Amino acid sequence: MALPPLSEEAIKSPDSWWHQKKILNSVLRLVLAMTLAFFIIQIKLDFFESFLYDIRVRLRPPPPVSGEISMVMIDESTLQNLKKEPSAKDLGQLIEKLSTYQPRAIVFDLDLTDLQGSFEEKKAFAEASLKNPNVYFMTDDLGVAGQSIRSSYPKPLDILPVFPGLKSADISNFAKDGVSRRMMIAYQGRQMLHLHLATEINPTLKDPSKIRGLFSFLGSDQLYINFHPEGTYPRLSFPQIFDGPIDPKLLNHRIVLVGQDLKTSKLVKIGNEKMERDYVRTPYSRDVLAMTSTELHANMFDTLILNNAPVRTSFWLDFIFVGLISVLTVYVVFSLRPLLGLFILAGSLVGFGLIGFFTFWPFGIWVSMSHPWLAIFLCYYFFIPYRLIIENRRSWEIYQKHRLLKQVEELKTNFISMMSHDLKTPIARILGMADVILRDPTPISSHQQEAVDTIKHSGDDLLKFISSILNYGQIESQAVQLHKQGRDINALLDEVIAKHEFLARLKKIQILKEFETLFPISVDPNLMKQVLSNLIENAIKYSNDETKILISTEEKGASVVIQIADQGPGIPAAELPNLFTKFYRSQNAKSSTIKGSGLGLYLAKYFVELHGGQVFVESTYGQGSTFTVQLPLR
Ligand code: ADP
Repeated sequence: MALPPLSEEAIKSPDSWWHQKKILNSVLRLVLAMTLAFFIIQIKLDFFESFLYDIRVRLRPPPPVSGEISMVMIDESTLQNLKKEPSAKDLGQLIEKLSTYQPRAIVFDLDLTDLQGSFEEKKAFAEASLKNPNVYFMTDDLGVAGQSIRSSYPKPLDILPVFPGLKSADISNFAKDGVSRRMMIAYQGRQMLHLHLATEINPTLKDPSKIRGLFSFLGSDQLYINFHPEGTYPRLSFPQIFDGPIDPKLLNHRIVLVGQDLKTSKLVKIGNEKMERDYVRTPYSRDVLAMTSTELHANMFDTLILNNAPVRTSFWLDFIFVGLISVLTVYVVFSLRPLLGLFILAGSLVGFGLIGFFTFWPFGIWVSMSHPWLAIFLCYYFFIPYRLIIENRRSWEIYQKHRLLKQVEELKTNFISMMSHDLKTPIARILGMADVILRDPTPISSHQQEAVDTIKHSGDDLLKFISSILNYGQIESQAVQLHKQGRDINALLDEVIAKHEFLARLKKIQILKEFETLFPISVDPNLMKQVLSNLIENAIKYSNDETKILISTEEKGASVVIQIADQGPGIPAAELPNLFTKFYRSQNAKSSTIKGSGLGLYLAKYFVELHGGQVFVESTYGQGSTFTVQLPLR
């Protein structure tokens, strides 16, 4: 595919063109992230969000209680005590007895449809209740707007002073998991009993704008209940009211809720939903009998009295959070290394979880966590394939470049090797002819003698150079093979020194030997001779006339150590790290007349390492150098 031609402006100023492209890319990503955020926030995640809400409720320390509420429960012990369910007469006596403690209100949370007792007893109970202004009967019936609520109890209980006090659960709305989280405080202008009684204690509630966490839902005013774990509120049993012992403080001036806890499941229809009559599921537990309805009402009263209902953040705030997190995720996916990106995303997941928790506790603010979390996952999985495509294209380009470079390198090496190989034979022939002339007894002029000597030395240099290049070619094509034999290193050194004695004598350099007796070790004699030859030749080559070279051997631990120390020019510290790289020659060497290819030490290091050994140098500039070769004994 051909690239589109560059515009004139782009050609004039390529920098600003790239800059503009970068800005355009960033804007595009921002728009994409925000669009995705907009769609994510529309997804209904009530079930998951409520699940996360419940976890927050469970993990925080329970909120304070008002101390204004107590419960009197008809439980299994009551049935055992009375040998029957409490009748109208018993309930009448209960009201009488409770009234002696002067409670603020006695609220019956009981279904009286099947109340035991004779017609007369029921009538007496109803009339007595009617006379007592502090007695309320809660019903789940909301009645008809504008009309007073009428009791649906059979005669003569139809005169009871009933009040709506609805319990609700997320059955067909919100999380749809059957858990009670919300409470209704008013419906079509009609107050529920909870608001009515709580306002007596906390007059702030008279002003609806001051009620914390208030929201409208299907024509009703609602709040989220500030839940306490089951068993938080003081609870007395029915017989205890008559037989004691009772702490009067638990009843005096309190809202006393009368309910039942018989551990039996009975479904009733409340509004359009079928619910347990006496129990509710709560954020603390989804058990069918998790909490009594009476304790739920206690929680509802308390939420209002303390006016501390949890506040849910608005749609727009949630949208801003989701937008920010989407932009962050897209930035991370496109701009950071994958591992770092993953850490940052995991960090923001945890971070947002912590924000969600610490705004709920202690501030009672319910920040939506499900949408930001979903945004992190969706943005990540939506954009990662795109990033992968870009990365793949990049690595493909790098791979192609690398392949091309390798081919060029191979061609170069092959060419050099071929050339060197073809040069070797004619040079050997030239050297042979120079030898023939030198050995011929026929006298030649001193000029001719000098010329033949020069031919001989230059030929030797050229041959050495070609051998190095050939070795280098072998290394590059990984064709060097070791042919190991057991050899005495001292003997090898003697051989090499003998070869260089002539050159040393010319420069009046004295070669001193300090050899320790050694056992033979397994080496490739040819390669090892090349290594030692290079080091000794360098020592002679770079040293001044009339200096000394010390060559020593010793056994140290599991190695044989060979050292070649000279009194030559030394090597500047800055150049030491490059010494063993291919074709490297020091500045001094390059500017001097001393010839060299810069391959000797590179080959020496390679060959020594092939034997499992090491070579290194210590040098003081201006004083001399010591090259050390360490070879393993085995
Ligand atoms: P060359 O063919 O140039 O001698 P080498 O790889 O054998 O290449 O050595 C690399 C460089 O290391 C040389 O150019 C020289 O500058 C420096 N060098 C090596 N041996 C010595 C020495 N004994 N004293 C001073 N410098 C040395």
